[in-house]
Amino acid sequence: MNSDANSSNVDNAEIAKFEALASRWWDKESEFKPLHDINPLRTRYIDERAQLAGKKTIDIGCGGGILSESMAQAGAQVKGIDMGEAPLGVARLHKLESQLDIDYERITAEEIADREAGQYDIVTCLEMLEHVPDPSSIIRACYKLVKPGGHVFFSTINRNPKAYLFAVIGAEYVLNMLPKGTHDYAKFIQPAELSNYARLAGLDVHELTGMTYNPITKQYRLNNKDVSVNYLMHTTKTID
Ligand code: SAH
Repeated sequence: MNSDANSSNVDNAEIAKFEALASRWWDKESEFKPLHDINPLRTRYIDERAQLAGKKTIDIGCGGGILSESMAQAGAQVKGIDMGEAPLGVARLHKLESQLDIDYERITAEEIADREAGQYDIVTCLEMLEHVPDPSSIIRACYKLVKPGGHVFFSTINRNPKAYLFAVIGAEYVLNMLPKGTHDYAKFIQPAELSNYARLAGLDVHELTGMTYNPITKQYRLNNKDVSVNYLMHTTKTID
């Protein structure tokens, strides 16, 4: 893929939303509260399946580095990429405070996949696919980046009336957890679609796990019986 085709898979309006919010990325009471709240759950999920310690890991759409940092804390050697300059700036400052060694770069998934194909034990791409024009192209790039036998993790939001109610109306309008316009319902991805993209890219799909939110207790938990709103997917690349 040439670089024109690569850059066309970036929605500049989506990047601008995150640029505008970047200074609040590490404020646990800000718009990023949901990412902070789910982070221990998803980091544990990844660690249990792929054993982060010592693993060469790339975090696609890393933003301000919430997941990149927790994976580095678990002992992974982490690179984080994003197309937002401001979130990367925040990530670079925050890793100094946390005294972690993480390599952040502004580059697309497709471009780094051309440059560093087959170099990673673990690839993560969480809460990012619903912000890009062509998620299947990102998924193909993740396949290209991972070593045979390596792990790729995705997470995104399902597309159905309940997800619309929770992720858009509930989170953006009722609970004011997220700024209005954070999510575009049409870009949400159903589990069958994500599984299909992953299989077409060449990945083996092992598991889909829901992340459910209880608005009364304000707690998230992993739930492999309920992928109706937010969900994680674990895939691997077969050793030929
Ligand atoms: N993965 C992080 C951040 C999720 S927010 C986490 O879960 O904690 C979504 C991030 O995706 C933002 O930082 C945004 O800048 C980035 N993003 C959106 N489109 C992108 C693209 N085409 N290429 C790279 N990053 C992108």
